[in-house]
Amino acid sequence: MLIVMHHSAPADQIEAVRRAVEQMGLRAEPIPGSERTAIGVLGNQGYVDDTSIRHLPGIREIIHVSKPYKMVSRDFHPASTVVEVGGVSVGEGHPPVIIAGPCSIESEEQMVEAALLVKGAGAQILRGGAFKPRTGPHSFQGLGKEGLKYLRRAGDEAGMPVITEVMRIGQLDDVCRHADILQIGARNMQNFDLLKEAGKTGHPVLLKRGMSATLEEFLAAAEYILAEGNSRVILCERGVRTFERATRNTLDLSVVPLIKEMSHLPIIVDPSHATGKRSLVPVMAKAALVAGTHGLMIEVHPAPEKALCDGAQSLAGPGFRALMDEMRSLMSYLGY
Ligand code: PEP
Ligand code: MN
Repeated sequence: MLIVMHHSAPADQIEAVRRAVEQMGLRAEPIPGSERTAIGVLGNQGYVDDTSIRHLPGIREIIHVSKPYKMVSRDFHPASTVVEVGGVSVGEGHPPVIIAGPCSIESEEQMVEAALLVKGAGAQILRGGAFKPRTGPHSFQGLGKEGLKYLRRAGDEAGMPVITEVMRIGQLDDVCRHADILQIGARNMQNFDLLKEAGKTGHPVLLKRGMSATLEEFLAAAEYILAEGNSRVILCERGVRTFERATRNTLDLSVVPLIKEMSHLPIIVDPSHATGKRSLVPVMAKAALVAGTHGLMIEVHPAPEKALCDGAQSLAGPGFRALMDEMRSLMSYLGY
């Protein structure tokens, strides 16, 4: 439930409503805004009977929100959230941010080479996986903790914030120590314990959409992180599983404008995992910009033919530089 106060409601009226909500055994979260203050009501299992509060002075409107996500919703928080990390701003009102780098960290040399390559082409954030969620147990599983050090060194050398995936709670300490952003992958989108613990760290989190998650499930997963007091969350559309096997997944681009309507959180697109094909990455990256994405996550490898993971969807240096040039023109056309 959301209680919208009158524009002119003084602080004591807001406080009286907050107390009344708490007397009902619920949590009240005042959400100050430039236009008016709203009070988010949390902790209810179902519909809240508002008879004991609706007469209180200063209330303009009571909106019953029956969605499984509230703090993530624009109803609760009309202003867009911008996630600031290492001097980079991700969100509405800022140019789309490019996150690039290899699927997995393979060696210190490979990571430094990749970092300098993507930085030189204009990317702002460096990616690389140390803990890899591979479909089969015989595939390369990542370098683990050792990989985190290489990623950090490569990021420092190129002067870039870094992002890497965390697969389980036990990895959180190490990943927080080495990375600026925690990535929670598609396969872990509904690992609720991991979401809660990631929320408690206060670290920025990039949450990827599960491969068969509905938008409601995606936003409800993000709610777990916000419910722990961490609103530094970036959502990422990375394609969903459909009947079509010609592409690795099916990129659901319409969620970009839709999430912007439904939520205040930034939404970015990963055209690499969405398509699985190097030749399709540039055009879908540009399509995502047109759809209004706040950023892109693109797999780039100095030598994709030698990559230990996802080489077929990784761009090499020349392809990535050409794409960055095209995206710069497109962004200027789009008015960024
Ligand atoms: C990744 O970005 O490295 C990854 C494994 O992606 P996803 O979780 O979207 O499959
Ligand atoms: Mn990958």
